[in-house]
This record gives sequence, C-alpha cells and structure tokens, in this order.
Amino acid sequence: MKLPKSMHVLERGWLSSNNIVFLGKDQTAIVDTGYCQHEEQTLQLVQHVLQERTLDAIYNTHLHSDHCGGNRILQEYYPAVSTHVPAAEFPRLKNWARMKLTFDATGQRCEMFHAEEMVHPNDKIRLGDLDWTALYAPGHHPYAYLLHCEQEGILISADALWEKGFGVVFPALDGWGGFKETRATLDMIDDLDLRLVIPGHGKPFTDVKQALKEAYSRISYLEGDPVRNAQNGIKVLLKFLLMERQSINLSEVPKLLKGIPLVNAANRNHMNYGDIHLAHWAVTQLKRAGALAVEGRLLVNVESKSG
Ligand SMILES: [Zn+2]
Repeated sequence: MKLPKSMHVLERGWLSSNNIVFLGKDQTAIVDTGYCQHEEQTLQLVQHVLQERTLDAIYNTHLHSDHCGGNRILQEYYPAVSTHVPAAEFPRLKNWARMKLTFDATGQRCEMFHAEEMVHPNDKIRLGDLDWTALYAPGHHPYAYLLHCEQEGILISADALWEKGFGVVFPALDGWGGFKETRATLDMIDDLDLRLVIPGHGKPFTDVKQALKEAYSRISYLEGDPVRNAQNGIKVLLKFLLMERQSINLSEVPKLLKGIPLVNAANRNHMNYGDIHLAHWAVTQLKRAGALAVEGRLLVNVESKSG
C-alpha cells in the first residue's frame, strides 16, 4: 500500500474519524477533522504533519460530529483556513441553532464552526497536487461526498465503505429511507478502478472487492428487515456515548437513550420497547458483542476495532 508523498493518513480511534492531510506544493489541506473531544490531539497531529506550514483548507466529507469536530480548533489556530462543506449543508451552517439540531439528534456534540465554500457533486478538487473528484454518496448520510483520485486509484470513502461494512444508514432510523441510496453508492464505488480505499474509520485497505462483497451482503441483510438497521443504530449511538464518557451508570441508560431523538425515532418506528426494556436490550447486546463490560452498576467501555 503506497500513498502519494503529498498525502498523510492519520488513523484515529473510532470516536474520531480518520484525518487525511495533504501537503501540496502551494496548498495544504485536511479531509475530515475528528470528534470535538479529541480536538487538541487533532491539532497536534496536524501541526506535526504540517511542520512550519499553515493549513489552507478543510474539507468535510459530511457533517457528522466525528468528521467535523476538529473544525473549530483548526479555524482558531489557522484563521485564514477556508472550510469546504457539502453544498446542501451550507445554508444550515449559517444558522448554528439549526445545525446544532442535527448533532443533538444523535446525542453528540460539535463546537461551532463556519464554512466559506461549498462542495457540489462532481466538483474537481486539487489536493496534494493531485486531481480529485467529489462523488455524491447518499445512504449513511444524505449529503455526503467521497473523494476519488482516478490517476492514483484512491478513494476516500468516509462512512460509505469500511473494510468491514459501512456506517449506520441513519435516514432509515426515522423513516427517510436510505437503503436504496446505500446500495447505489456501493454500485458507484464498484464501478471505480481502485487500488486503495481510505475509510472514515479503521485502516486503509487494498482488497476493495472483498470489502464490497461484505458491504453488499450487509445491505441485503438490512434491507431484508429495517428493524435490523434500527437495532444497529441504537447500539451504535449508545456505544458512541460510552466511547465518549468511558463509563456510564447503568441506571442512567434509560434516560440517556430517551434523550437521543434518533434513538427515540428508531424505537418508535421499528421496535416500540418501553424505556427500561430498550436500555436493558441495548446493554445486553453490546455486552454480548464485547463492546462493553458491566462492573457492578457501571457500564465500562471496551475498546473494540469495529466501534
Ligand atoms: Zn458519518
């Protein structure tokens, strides 16, 4: 797996997305900036790669809290940086109260940031002296784009394709669909000639065919019964909280879950469990998967590779 010299992949834990830093002759850039809780670490890692250079551009593949949570600190430290977000999100960013609602929906946080530029589908973008195309990729998020470098056969796939699976199909949790779009995005990736994929989480991988095979099998499984996606979504959102806090009192779980609008929607639309039942179910599932441990009355996060 050889990366172009101008490209540096900062592989992060699952709470923060990976960051890709580009050192072009005349311009530097970062793609995705991690979760706000790790912002100091993000800044340090970026400074380390940039050395004495400044940061010229931020690109966010989509505005999930774990992909844009480092924007604030990078904008503060590099005041001239220009931030590029999916075009459809741009108007919402002008009104942070509206933008914040999208983070609140998942029970996650994001510090306020601003954006100057829009990325439209099929935009040509120069990063690290290479030509990239922004490929519109709905499914996991309705406004996400991926970055494809045809010349190098590299795809920055965000949460549309991981080595094992892909991110939760969030729109389906509250009845907006998304399975068809997820499949169409996989088809689009399948049509590219790729030697390397840099996912939003986990290590870069070269066996793209195998990853696609697993992703297709997963989307078929989810399409077979939307309850599966709802259950997965609820588990992922609880696991995210646990990664953020590291431990949670067992008795707090029903209230915590009830405070997350997307969990409520997923439960209401697909499961209809009572609060206590839902909390018990989610804890049991994560425990069985080895994603948490129960110590007395405390849930404790267990670091896992698959988040
Ligand atoms: Zn995401």
